[in-house]
Amino acid sequence: MHQFKNNTYWHTNVNEQVISEAALPKNIDVIIIGAGFTGLATALHLLRGGKSVAVFDAMKLGDGASGKNGGMIGPSLHKLGLDGLSGKYGKERALDILQEGMTAIDYFQKFIVEENIDCDLKMTGRFRGVIGKKALDGVMRDSENLMALNGFKFDVVKPENVHDEIGSDIYQGGVIYHQDGGIHPYKLVRALAEKVLQLGGSIHQETRVENIIKTPTGFQIATEKGSLLAGDVVVASNGYSKKFSNGMLPYFYKRLLPITSAMIATEELPQEQIDRMFPKKRMHGGNHRLVQYYRASPDHKRVLFGARGPDAYDRPLQNGTVLKKHLCKIFPELDKVKIDYSWSGKVAYTFDHTPHLGKHDGLYYAIGYCGSGVTRSIYLARQLSRRILGQSDFQTAFDDLSFESKPFYTGTPWFMPAILKWHSFLDHIDGN
Ligand SMILES: Cc1cc2nc3c(=O)[nH]c(=O)nc-3n(C[C@H](O)[C@H](O)[C@H](O)COP(=O)(O)OP(=O)(O)OC[C@H]3O[C@@H](n4cnc5c(N)ncnc54)[C@H](O)[C@@H]3O)c2cc1C
Repeated sequence: MHQFKNNTYWHTNVNEQVISEAALPKNIDVIIIGAGFTGLATALHLLRGGKSVAVFDAMKLGDGASGKNGGMIGPSLHKLGLDGLSGKYGKERALDILQEGMTAIDYFQKFIVEENIDCDLKMTGRFRGVIGKKALDGVMRDSENLMALNGFKFDVVKPENVHDEIGSDIYQGGVIYHQDGGIHPYKLVRALAEKVLQLGGSIHQETRVENIIKTPTGFQIATEKGSLLAGDVVVASNGYSKKFSNGMLPYFYKRLLPITSAMIATEELPQEQIDRMFPKKRMHGGNHRLVQYYRASPDHKRVLFGARGPDAYDRPLQNGTVLKKHLCKIFPELDKVKIDYSWSGKVAYTFDHTPHLGKHDGLYYAIGYCGSGVTRSIYLARQLSRRILGQSDFQTAFDDLSFESKPFYTGTPWFMPAILKWHSFLDHIDGN
């Protein structure tokens, strides 16, 4: 077995300002459960709106999905596409839901620029490679449907032009999505945390929230380091909602499917090789059923590759071996290349493939980004905080969609490994 570092590539070489442990406040306007993008961005807006805010996280800053992801941004258009959504909600609503993705990516870019955040933002576009002629027709049809959206732009890549996009022979064509790009996710987490601290918020790392009791004026909160009173609570725990919940928050974890997403980073490669593999520095994915995503690191020295973990466990060393095999199908030339880093985290799917935000039983929440949460979390955090602050324009196209659970589902998707194996088998049959 390879000797990977069981470590997140993003956490190396980032200039970290140490976050000193803050004393637990006794009484606060808002507590936030989760110090990822959702929690930190919500805290930032609430602090600017005049609220006092304490953010709690069971882990160290950046150890949730926000500090570990692929850093791929874009409109994150709904998985069901225009046809699927129209069948469920009608065409007008379907277009609204899809257009919300375009609003989100526009907002994300504006936010990073206006906040002056250095997180290696580059809007280089995404190439979705396609294996199989029939599949290419399907992807083109789906993309043409999306031309109804304001600002949506795509280009078809013919078989003879695939090498302009990627140094791989696996694809017969593909589509370029021009509204996509990449960031360094951990730099964004750090920048948000620093802003929250500068505005007077507190961040309590390695402090699990263990219980929430309603009081006549708000909530009594028990954490593993003591108790406090809060006027409002924001649930920003996404894929970790059950893991650290201690049975608290059942409404949320019964509606979320926590799924492992795993990544690897190769050793540094020769410049000529990485330029040939990623000639346009785009983000990449394919039409595999088993989600795969990959890119060059922002310094353009390594390949970063991600896929669904083979099972429910965060086992970076075992996952690394599986991921390298997938990577070498796309780039056989990487067979002898060392994998330096292997890591994983939890994403949260929902039964309707849609993120959800709002207020339930007095608790505000934004949650369930279905594996595409970088852009969505930053955008929905702004909308949620507008709502908490009593400001206008807080509505989104997701607001009144019912947040479904399933009978007997208790927050542990025991059936996922079987589904992933089935998808992997179908990919194999299709030659993917
Ligand atoms: C490997 C990987 C790759 C990904 N790649 C991409 C990508 O390229 N593009 C994209 O758009 N999305 C990607 N995602 C998804 C994206 O990272 C997430 O959707 C997004 O970061 C969610 O942010 P969040 O703040 O809601 O949740 P998180 O960042 O997961 O934060 C939730 C936090 O809540 C804390 N918590 C939970 N319960 C408690 C409790 N009781 N008390 C205290 N703290 C608690 C957890 O410790 C955790 O830190 C990826 C995810 C992973 C894991």
